[in-house]
Amino acid sequence: MFENEERTNIEKLGEFGLIDHLTKNIKLTQKSSIKGVGDDAAVLDFGGKKTLISTDMLLEGIHFDLAYTPLKHLGYKAVQVNLSDIYAMNGTATQVTVSIGMSSRFPLEAIEELYEGIYLACDKYGVDLIGGDTTASKQGLVISITSIGYADEKDIVYRNGAEEGDLICVSGDLGGAYTGLQLLEREKLVYMENPNIQPDLEGKDYIVERQLKPEARKDIIDLLQDMQVKPTAMIDVSDGLASELLHICKQSNKGCKLYEEKIPIDPMTYETAREFNLDPTVCALSGGEDYELLFTVKQADYDKIKFKLDFTIIGYITEPNAGCNLITKSGNMHELKAQGWNAFGSLQ
Ligand code: ADP
Ligand code: MG
Repeated sequence: MFENEERTNIEKLGEFGLIDHLTKNIKLTQKSSIKGVGDDAAVLDFGGKKTLISTDMLLEGIHFDLAYTPLKHLGYKAVQVNLSDIYAMNGTATQVTVSIGMSSRFPLEAIEELYEGIYLACDKYGVDLIGGDTTASKQGLVISITSIGYADEKDIVYRNGAEEGDLICVSGDLGGAYTGLQLLEREKLVYMENPNIQPDLEGKDYIVERQLKPEARKDIIDLLQDMQVKPTAMIDVSDGLASELLHICKQSNKGCKLYEEKIPIDPMTYETAREFNLDPTVCALSGGEDYELLFTVKQADYDKIKFKLDFTIIGYITEPNAGCNLITKSGNMHELKAQGWNAFGSLQ
């Protein structure tokens, strides 16, 4: 799905012509970017800092559907999901590399739109595009992004640092990206049955945006730093709250108590989940792709965080033998499972 009507055959440009076309306007902004696109390797210098690297691959048909994903949004999201991993280490993201595999059905204009989204995200978050790879793909569009950043050793937050009594916090709200996806999938089916019917996404902007145009929570990292709160453990919410919290507990060798009533869910997410006969809590626990930050903080930091509206305290860390549990709104206790669909069927 791309908006530009012109179709320039990429073969006319050739691989090097295409790379040059896509990268000619790059201006490196990070001090650590010594050499970007144009040689056999990029050169970076982080002085005395630790380097953070994370990579993610997005495949057409698995991670995205071009029937309802504008290429510009796709490029933007592909960068965001990668930056999110650097922020989840409490780091500063500084560079990305972008590798694409594309089928011959894409004209130059389509790839330009993809890169418009990529550059928009890079600009907004102050990261340099320093390289990549370009190949043909027979299967569809493939985008692989590597994000690079840095942190002082003492500032890095791992998944394994949670301690008994720590407060569990999550930024923003959850389940929106998943309910947005349900909506887009439904409208796609309607459209396939009758192409004359226009998609009905009226009043659903927020959750559609949560799915198509997520924002990595750099602002939360900055906020925590301003408040001088260093989380004891942190992870970004890509697979759903349950799965991420279990990662923290497992790697920290601890248990947890998570309170259903505390889980932040936007009213539009709530309503839409209900429309689809889904339990909003299950959407938050198992939906994924919200790209919020889940982190634990010491109880001693409670006074510093208690009035913050940007994140919510949703539970606390326990000793490991207590297990990982969800306390439902009715006060029952369920074991927290990564795949919550059947496990919490009784909530619906
Ligand atoms: P090599 O043959 O050494 O792999 P390439 O011809 O693939 O080199 O790439 C030349 C330069 O262009 C390198 O700096 C590479 O990082 C960069 N590059 C290649 N493809 C892309 C892309 N899709 N986006 C951004 N930079 C790219
Ligand atoms: Mg190459």
